[in-house]
Amino acid sequence: MFNQDAFNAYVEANRERFLQEFAEFIAIPSVAADGRGIQPMADLLTERLRKIGATTQQFPLPEGGSPVVYAELKGAGEPTLMIYNHYDVQPEVPVDLWDTPPFELARKDGLLYGRGVSDDKGELLSRIQAVEAWIATQGPLPLTLKWVVEGEEEISSIHLPGWVDEHRDLLNADGVLWEGGGYDAKGRYIFAEGCKGIAYFELHAHGPAMDLHSSLAPMVPNPAWRLVWALATLKGANDSILIDDYEKHLAAPSAELLARIDAAPIDDLPVDMQQYGLGGWLNGMDDHRADRDDLRHSIWLYPEGIEDGAARARLREGRLPPRPEPDAAARA
Ligand SMILES: [Zn+2]
Repeated sequence: MFNQDAFNAYVEANRERFLQEFAEFIAIPSVAADGRGIQPMADLLTERLRKIGATTQQFPLPEGGSPVVYAELKGAGEPTLMIYNHYDVQPEVPVDLWDTPPFELARKDGLLYGRGVSDDKGELLSRIQAVEAWIATQGPLPLTLKWVVEGEEEISSIHLPGWVDEHRDLLNADGVLWEGGGYDAKGRYIFAEGCKGIAYFELHAHGPAMDLHSSLAPMVPNPAWRLVWALATLKGANDSILIDDYEKHLAAPSAELLARIDAAPIDDLPVDMQQYGLGGWLNGMDDHRADRDDLRHSIWLYPEGIEDGAARARLREGRLPPRPEPDAAARA
């Protein structure tokens, strides 16, 4: 039986030390984008994992990539849970938006501030500390843990797929706990069923070598229109996706998964309709349908956003012939 009182008392008794350890994690600027502090962070983490009795290993990656820190902690039971975290952080820029120094743990009104407090040093270290508290108050873990902690998550995990291919023997597990977790706006713990993948597409259309006066629009090809036409081949006006055979690439959600969504409360959708000034969901869907549709379409394949990054084509203004009136043209 889990002795929660003993567990909580242990956490309480060690609160200041846990926070001190957290401050040490935050103090190392392990920014994968420029390699700063990566090795010291990998070393501090390896040391911390050893203190809970884990066997640890650092795997150097090619091209000077951030090492993968791998740890195993044998428990009393059969199942194996793999935990993924990352010890790198986003760069601290722009610095002037910080009220406190980014690499100093600050406490303010019961909240903690610093780069990596969330995503992902907070999640990473609190898991290690929770395991410590468990072992100290309940005895050996009921399962075996395998920890994979990478240091390149914020630069798209560039070397991780190669590392996974080479170390499949290490990675057998009955389940994986992902890097984060949290509470919804109503304070309920969130369990995620999976993660979406992201595919980015950037469309560039090239036009004249310099910006031209808009009066020349009738005779000069306009790259902005070419982008608009290209986008219009992806989705119809009723939001149906026009890509050939798109449906064939969708995996249908299982009945079990849909039943679990049906059972979950829908009183905290990810977007607050009022706050964002929305008159309703797409195509008049009700909350339930919107909740389900978000899952059905966007988990598997969905063009979520298309950015016009290079400003090669900018939709800036439209010159209208003398008639119709501008408002009428805009409505049309
Ligand atoms: Zn993350």
